[in-house]
Amino acid sequence: MAARTMATLRMTGKPHIAVIGAGAFGGWTALYLLRGGARVTLLDAWGPGNSRASSGGETRIIRGAYGPDQPYTRLAARALDLWKQHEAQWNRKFFFPIGVLWMAEADDTFERGSLPFLKDAGIPFEQLTVNELARRWPQISFANVEWGIYEPQSGYLLARASTQAVVDQFVAEGGEYRQSTVAEQDLEGGEWKGLQLSQGSTSNASTSDASTIVADRYVFACGPWLGKLFPHTVGPHFVSTKQDVFFFGTPAGDPRYNEGNVPVWADHSDHFMYGIPGNQERGFKVADDTRGPEFDPTSGQRLVSEDGLAATRRYLAYRFPGMKDAPLVETRVCQYENTTDHNFIVDRHPGKANVWIVGGGSGHGFKHGPALGEMVARLVLKDETADPWYRLARFKRE
Ligand SMILES: Cc1cc2nc3c(=O)[nH]c(=O)nc-3n(C[C@H](O)[C@H](O)[C@H](O)COP(=O)(O)OP(=O)(O)OC[C@H]3O[C@@H](n4cnc5c(N)ncnc54)[C@H](O)[C@@H]3O)c2cc1C
Repeated sequence: MAARTMATLRMTGKPHIAVIGAGAFGGWTALYLLRGGARVTLLDAWGPGNSRASSGGETRIIRGAYGPDQPYTRLAARALDLWKQHEAQWNRKFFFPIGVLWMAEADDTFERGSLPFLKDAGIPFEQLTVNELARRWPQISFANVEWGIYEPQSGYLLARASTQAVVDQFVAEGGEYRQSTVAEQDLEGGEWKGLQLSQGSTSNASTSDASTIVADRYVFACGPWLGKLFPHTVGPHFVSTKQDVFFFGTPAGDPRYNEGNVPVWADHSDHFMYGIPGNQERGFKVADDTRGPEFDPTSGQRLVSEDGLAATRRYLAYRFPGMKDAPLVETRVCQYENTTDHNFIVDRHPGKANVWIVGGGSGHGFKHGPALGEMVARLVLKDETADPWYRLARFKRE
């Protein structure tokens, strides 16, 4: 054990852990590290759920269907329990169980493969024929759909609001939060004595001066910025992509496209479209899950593409005919922080045993926040090794 670690443990009996990034992954990890007995400092450059962060949108889907051969259905089931527990404890509402509908076409590998995993994880679901789908949701055209999965107890989460609430709770439980940036530095090279921070600390922390932080362990949960911070270890296996999201206005006084009448939906046609009705009164949300062009999360201009809008309008007329002429009421540009296999990264840096890298949400990470934070805290505090799904070694096989 390093001399400083020994010194910190002698003084406080607790390891000091710095978590960099207060998004869905870092915020929940910091909270669980704190509850696990560590002294935790959480840093974020622009604040939890900021406009550049992947966790910064209004809403995110929580669902159990994940296709065959994956660890995520169980993780989502655990996350769902934890979201509900925290809502009750904090007397806040983040989870809206309006149901999630999966539309399966001729190639239904994803949907068929999901069924045993849903069963195993205890996530309630129904298998519906296309006639049953049409009877239940007459406002949707099920052209080319062969059958569906309906998860009646899944739904959507408030993203930005819950990300901020997690950090508020972290501070209320005794954690230290600073709005501060880990400056560009060589994190992968030789020994470092601590992290250099840029100006802008908002706390009176006594742990270190304003320009460095020295901790026993470091958890980097920097979402789409991870590839730049770790250009050798993460960079070659990582890309941040621009994702356009469209919000359409429903007909005045017509409740057919509101939550309660339409569930969250996911459509595996020639490409993967999804949406959230109602969406906290922000319009009928529609997005294409196809990966967009590479995107810089710091300096990228967040303007949706005209082509994307035209394609989304065509899709809307095809699948939701009553929304054919709906006006566009809002847009949003976010980015997916993709690994090459779309699995998360939860692992130690190969050259630094006290540095953990946590991220690679790849367009599906948000829902897992509490379950992932719980898992990462256990691994970091007990010095255990992550499941092979999440380890960096998998990239060597590419
Ligand atoms: C359009 C869109 C739709 C999505 N839909 C869903 C969905 O329906 N369901 C779902 O589960 N997931 C969904 N996702 C994915 C999910 O939102 C992300 O996987 C998740 O939010 C990633 O969280 P994160 O904490 O890893 O990253 P982020 O939220 O980006 O957090 C990283 C944080 O690190 C900070 N940071 C970066 N660099 C530094 C530095 N040098 N110093 C200090 N701080 C730094 C940033 O400010 C940021 O706050 C979607 C994503 C997008 C873009």
